[in-house]
Amino acid sequence: MTTKANALITGANKGIGLETARRLAAMGFNVWLGARDAERGEAAAKALRNEGLDVEWLALDVASDDSVAAAARTLTARVSSLDVLVNNAGIAPGYVDALGPDGRYERAPSRENVADMKATFDVNVFGPIRVTQAFLPLLLAAPAARIVMVSSYLGSIARAAGNSQSPNVMGYGSSKTALNAITVAFARELSPRGMMVNAAAPGYTATDLNAHRGTRTVQQAAEIIVQLAALKAGGPTGGYFDENGPLPW
Ligand code: NDP
Repeated sequence: MTTKANALITGANKGIGLETARRLAAMGFNVWLGARDAERGEAAAKALRNEGLDVEWLALDVASDDSVAAAARTLTARVSSLDVLVNNAGIAPGYVDALGPDGRYERAPSRENVADMKATFDVNVFGPIRVTQAFLPLLLAAPAARIVMVSSYLGSIARAAGNSQSPNVMGYGSSKTALNAITVAFARELSPRGMMVNAAAPGYTATDLNAHRGTRTVQQAAEIIVQLAALKAGGPTGGYFDENGPLPW
C-alpha cells in the first residue's frame, strides 16, 4: 500500500485529463490514469513515470457498470483511501461536427441526434455518478477528499444562452448542465462528511474533443481542476469555477 495521497482521474490517457495527471503527480500525488484505450493509457503512464512521477494505469469505461466496479475492486486492493477523484472523462455528440460550425440541431435526423445524446449522457452524466458511487468507500476513507467534476463553460445556462451553436448547446452543453446539478447534489450529501465536491468550467480547449474550436491550452484547463483538487479541509464545496474563481451557475 502506498503512503502518498492518491488521485484517480478518469479520461486521463490524453487531453485535459493527462495534463491534470501530470500536474497532480508533480504535486506529490500517486496518480491513477483511468480510461478505455489501454495501449494509450499504458504509454501515457510510462511517459510520466519516465519524468519521475508516480503514475499508474487503471482500465476504466465510465459508461459500464461492470468496468467501473472492476476498477474500484482493483484500486481497493492497492490503496486504503482516495484523496482526489477527477471525473474528467467526457465526449461530445458527433452530430455537432457533422452539422458544421453553423449547423442547426433542427436540420439533423432526430433519431440519430437522440441516440448521440444518450451516448453522450451515458459518459458525461451517468459516468460521474457511477464512478463517484463506486469509489465512495475509498473517498470516505480519506480525511477530506475532493471530487472535481469536469464540466464546461457551456454547463452554465446563462453562458449557453449566449452561444450561437445550438447543436453544441443541445447535446453537449445540456450534459454539462446536468453534471452541474449532480455536483450540487453530491456536495449537499457528502460535504457533511468532510468531502468537497466542485465543478470545473474550462473554456474551448485544443484537444481531440475540440480540435477546431479550441483556443485555450490543456494547461489552462488543468489549472482550474488542480486548484479544486488541492483544496484543504473546510474549503469551498458545491461550486462552479473557472480560472478566475467561482462562477454563477
Ligand atoms: P479528449 O477527447 O482529449 O479526451 C477524452 C478522454 O476521455 C480520453 O482520455 C478518453 O479515453 C476518455 N473517455 C472517453 N469516453 C470514456 C469512457 N466511456 N470511459 C472512460 N474514459 C473515456 O477530451 P478533452 O481532454 O478535451 O476532455 C476532457 C474533459 O474536459 C471532458 O469531460 C470534456 O467534456 C471537458 N471539457 C473539454 C473542453 C474542450 O474544449 N476540449 C472544454 C470544457 C470541458 P478513451 O477514449 O481511451 O476512453
